[in-house]
Amino acid sequence: MKAHDGMYIGGEWRGAAGTDTIAVVNPADEQVIAHVPAGIAEDVDAAVFAAHEAFPAWAATPPAERAARIAALRDVLVARKDEIAETVTAELGAPLQFSQTVHAGVPILVAGSYAELAASYAFEEKVGNSIVYAEPVGVVGAITPWNYPLHQIVAKVAPALAAGCTVVLKPAEDTPLTAQLFAEAVHEAGIPAGVFNLVTGLGPVAGQALAEHPGVDLVSFTGSTAVGKQIGATAGGAVKRVALELGGKSANVILPSADLAKAVGVGIANVMGNSGQTCSAWTRMLVHTSRYDEAVELAAEAAAKYGDRIGPLVNAKQHTRVRGYIEKGVAEGARLVAGGPEAPREQGYFVSPTVFADVTPEMAIAQEEIFGPVVSIIRYEDEGDALRIANGTVYGLAGAVWAADDAEAVAFARRMDTGQVDINGGRFNPLAPFGGYKQSGVGRELGAHGLSEYLQTKSLQF
Ligand code: NAD
Repeated sequence: MKAHDGMYIGGEWRGAAGTDTIAVVNPADEQVIAHVPAGIAEDVDAAVFAAHEAFPAWAATPPAERAARIAALRDVLVARKDEIAETVTAELGAPLQFSQTVHAGVPILVAGSYAELAASYAFEEKVGNSIVYAEPVGVVGAITPWNYPLHQIVAKVAPALAAGCTVVLKPAEDTPLTAQLFAEAVHEAGIPAGVFNLVTGLGPVAGQALAEHPGVDLVSFTGSTAVGKQIGATAGGAVKRVALELGGKSANVILPSADLAKAVGVGIANVMGNSGQTCSAWTRMLVHTSRYDEAVELAAEAAAKYGDRIGPLVNAKQHTRVRGYIEKGVAEGARLVAGGPEAPREQGYFVSPTVFADVTPEMAIAQEEIFGPVVSIIRYEDEGDALRIANGTVYGLAGAVWAADDAEAVAFARRMDTGQVDINGGRFNPLAPFGGYKQSGVGRELGAHGLSEYLQTKSLQF
């Protein structure tokens, strides 16, 4: 797609207030593929103003009509699926097939789910002698990361629109082309001017201006825990609603009774998909001591099979950071059984699928979010030990439990301090709430829980 040199504000592409631009780089070959404008506070002001102007009419639009607009948006995403996949591949580096099925496919599912929810959600209910109304919070400032560029946008914009809120989006610096494509889709879907606005730009400039803007009623942020803490503090100071989807260090707990080959195979695939750049990735594999050696062998084989099939990391900084973590793992005494810190290709930000054995729970590679294709296999002695290790990080975003039967896995999962757990390889459900315990975040996305984040309640007594 051709990059726009302006911002999408008030239903049109407007010239940016400043002259600086951001270069978009293809991480597979390190070539600059486009430039987009680097927004400044004036751009954010104009976008918030447009969203504020559009809010009363959109909030008063009957839910069935909002639903119809979101369904139209879903249809445009379907019609432009190939272009979306190609754009994500060009700026994120994901293999094209993964871009088609996941990066383009999942947002279609999520947009569709909100078209249905907008039409069916109970925006008012009778409680005794009261009527309780669920009303839109107002103008939403949405700040998104690059790792699932379209999904992260749709997971915020679709429920916000379903609720009757209007939105200003500041997407990640690395993947602005997907965001521009989304703005085109919003326009094509006939969503009224000002209901959705896009300002591209740097996080500490445009992102911060949006998070601090007095005209923004709710900040919804997905990204690193470090920036999330800052945004949470800013929002708290202004008594503003805030939703934070932050980092993770999820555990894949393989109980002794599990189908080991399946649990290890799916576990490795879970991390290697998107080159490990998934906040909910199961980067710690917990295996009982009786099956540890077998699991290590299976994991090394599974990772080696990925070989060349994984895409690069998103940028040079992540490339250096992830390889630094691999070196740190070696220095801490973990045993490399697949991959390593050497760049497997001369060009592009590639890292080999990497597996560490003999990882102990306190090592940095077992505690910190690496955000690359790196799995740490940790040994446990009994279930109590497994639970302590699984819960022993500051994060609590996701996880997996494997056992011979679901009931055994569920009993363990219920004791995990984490927001979402896949039982014996459970499938992705776009209606299930997603979000973190502990420092993985505040609030939930997806489904009815995700919609309720954008609503506030008013009760009338009779
Ligand atoms: P990041 O926090 O650096 O950036 C995320 C977004 O915030 C970007 O749009 C960025 O421009 C913006 N930003 C940066 N500094 C800002 C500031 N001072 N004020 C306002 N906005 C600012 O994170 P990243 O490197 O883009 O993404 C990787 C991280 O995001 C990982 O830690 C990952 O776990 C996390 N993540 C979490 C989820 C989730 O759902 N929990 C999903 C994806 C990514």
